Amino acid sequence: MTHIIAEPCIGTKDTACVEVCPVDCIHPRKDEEKFDPEKMLYIDPETCIDCGLCVDECPVTAIFPEDELPDKWQEYTQLNADWYKENG
Ligand code: SF4
Repeated sequence: MTHIIAEPCIGTKDTACVEVCPVDCIHPRKDEEKFDPEKMLYIDPETCIDCGLCVDECPVTAIFPEDELPDKWQEYTQLNADWYKENG
C-alpha cells in the first residue's frame, strides 16, 4: 500500500510532509526545478513505506492512506503514480 496526496494540496504545496518523510518519496521538493510549475506534490507509491508520518504534518489534510482516501478523490491514486512515471 501507499499514501496518497489529494486535492487539498493543489495550490498549497506546504512541503512540511517532505521534511518528515524518511524515504524521500514526496516530490517535487522545493529545491527541485519542477517545484514551481507543479500545482501539487505527489507520493511515489513504489517507495512509500506507509509510515504515516506525513499525514499529521499536512496543514490542509491532503494526505491519506490509500484505503482511507475519500471516494471523491479516488483519481489521485493514479495521479500520484503517474507523476513518477512521467518524472521519475
Ligand atoms: Fe513518506 Fe511515510 Fe508519508 Fe509514505 S507515509 S510518503 S514513507 S512520510
